Amino acid sequence: MKEFDIIAIGGGSGGIATMNRAAIYGAKAAVIEGSHLGGTCVNLGCVPKKIMWYGSQVAETIHHYGPEYGFTSQDVTFDFATLRKNREAYIERSRTSYGNTFNNNGVQVIKGFAKFVDAQTVEVNGELIRAKHIVIATGAQPAVPNIPGNELGIVSDDVFAWEELPTSVAVIGAGYIAVEMAGLLHGLGVQTDLFVRGNRPLRNFDSYIIQALMEEMERTNLPLHTGKTPVSLEKTEDGLIQINFEDGSSHTAQEVLWAIGRKPNVKQLNLEAAGVQLTPSGHIAVDEYQETGVPGIYALGDVTGEKELTPVAIKAGRLLAERLFNNKPNAKMDYTNIPTVVFSHPAIGTVGLTEEEAIAQYGQEEVKVYTSAFTSMYTALANNRQMAKFKLVTVGENEQVVGLHGIGYGVDEMIQGFSVAIKMGASKEEFDAVVAIHPTGSEEFVTMR
Ligand code: FAD
Ligand code: NDP
Repeated sequence: MKEFDIIAIGGGSGGIATMNRAAIYGAKAAVIEGSHLGGTCVNLGCVPKKIMWYGSQVAETIHHYGPEYGFTSQDVTFDFATLRKNREAYIERSRTSYGNTFNNNGVQVIKGFAKFVDAQTVEVNGELIRAKHIVIATGAQPAVPNIPGNELGIVSDDVFAWEELPTSVAVIGAGYIAVEMAGLLHGLGVQTDLFVRGNRPLRNFDSYIIQALMEEMERTNLPLHTGKTPVSLEKTEDGLIQINFEDGSSHTAQEVLWAIGRKPNVKQLNLEAAGVQLTPSGHIAVDEYQETGVPGIYALGDVTGEKELTPVAIKAGRLLAERLFNNKPNAKMDYTNIPTVVFSHPAIGTVGLTEEEAIAQYGQEEVKVYTSAFTSMYTALANNRQMAKFKLVTVGENEQVVGLHGIGYGVDEMIQGFSVAIKMGASKEEFDAVVAIHPTGSEEFVTMR
C-alpha cells in the first residue's frame, strides 16, 4: 500500500495548490487525478474561455472600432480552426508546467479516479493508497435540467470540443457561463440568443451594472429573451433543435447550450465508506477550516459549493496546507469580499456588497451610493459607442466603501487593486485622497461625486 502525509482527490485548481504548498513544507504529498491535470479551469473553464473571449474582442476591434482608427477590415477572415489549435496548444503547455512544478516540489501524480475505502484509505485502479490527511477537491460538472429532450442540448465542456463553430446557438441560463458564452459566441459571429427565466441575467449582481449589460446586449444586437423557462427540447425535420418554453413560445437553433449551474462531483467517491456528510444541496459539508465531520478529511473548491472560482479553491487549499504543515493553526479562508469578473462584453467586475445587499444588511438610511456613466474612450471615435458604468456602495457616517462595481472596457483588469482597498476597509474619503490616473476608466472610482 502507498502511504502519504497528504493526498488530494482531484488535480484541479484546489488539489494542485494544496499539494504543492504541503510539499514545500516537507509533506509527502500526492495528487490523484482521473482526467487531465489542471481540472476545470485549465481544460474546460477559465483558460479556454478567456482565449475565446480575447478572440471575440479581436473580432470586435477589427470590425467595429478598427475602421474608426483608420484600419480597413474588408479582407479579414476568421479561421476558427487556428484559434482552436492555438488554444489547445496553450492548454497543453499549462498542463506540462503543472507536471514540472510537481517534479520540483516532489509531489507525486497518481492517474485514475479515487474512491474511499475507509476514512484514511482510497482505492485507485484497484490499488490502495493511505494518507493521514485526505483533501477532497473533485470540483463540479455542468447541470442539465430534468426535462424531455434534455440530451439534445450541450454543456460548456462540449463548446471546447467544437472543431467548427455552429451557425446558431441558443444559450439557456442566467449565470456567469450563460453570459460569457453568449457574449463570446456572438462576438465570433455565431447567431446567438440568450434565454433567462427571470427578468435579467446575473440576478445576484448589482442591478445598475446588469441594466448596463442588458443595454449593451441590445446595442450590439445580442437578443436577450427574459421570462423563458424551457420545458422540452425536440429535433426538427431539418436537423435543428427546437426549445419549447413554458409560456407556449419556441425557438430553433443548431445548438442549445445548457448553462444553468454546476453540480458537485461526489458520486464516484463512495463517501459513505468514510462517513463524509453532504449539505442539502449535495455539496460536501465543511466547517470554516475546510474540515468535514471526519477527522483528517477536508474538502475545498467547487465540491463544497462555496464561491465557485479558481482563486478561491487555490487560496483555501494553500491556507489549509499552511495550517497543517507550517504551524499556522488559525489559517483559514476568508470568504468575504471576494473580487470577481464576468468576462462579458464588456467585462463586469465586482467586489463586496451590491446596493441591494448593503441596504438589506445596514438599512436604507446608512447606505449612500455613487455612480458614474460615460462612453468608453476606446470606442469613442465610433458612432455606435460602448458605455462604461461604475458604482461605489458606502455605509455609515464615514462612508466606508463596502461595494465596488463596474462594467466597461478594461474593467476586468481594474478590480483586483481596488479590492485591496475594500478589504482594508477604506472610506470614500480615502478613495478620493488618491490622485486619479488620466485618461483611464479606473479614475472614475476615485473621482465620483
Ligand atoms: P476542478 O478544477 O474542477 O478540479 C477537480 C478535478 O477533480 C478534475 O480534474 C476532475 O477530473 C477530478 N476528479 C473528480 N472526481 C475525481 C475522483 N473521484 N478521483 C480523481 N479525480 C477526480 N473561475 C474563475 O475564477 N475565473 C474564470 O474565468 C472561470 N471561468 C470558468 C469558465 C467555465 C466554462 C467553467 C465551467 C468554470 C469557470 N470557472 C472560473 C470556475 C473554475 O473553473 C472552478 O471554480 C475551479 O476549477 C474549481 O477548482 P476545483 O479544484 O474545486 O475543481
Ligand atoms: P451560475 O450558478 O452562475 O448560474 C446559473 C443560473 O442559471 C442560475 O443562477 C439560474 O438563474 C439559472 N438557472 C438555473 N436553473 C435553470 C433552469 N432549469 N432553467 C433556466 N435557467 C436556470 O452557474 P454557471 O453554470 O453559469 O456557472 C457556475 C459557476 O462557475 C459560477 O457561479 C461561477 O462561480 C463559476 N464561473 C466563474 C466564471 C468567472 O469567474 N468569470 C466564469 C464561469 C463560471 P435564475 O435563477 O436567475 O434563472
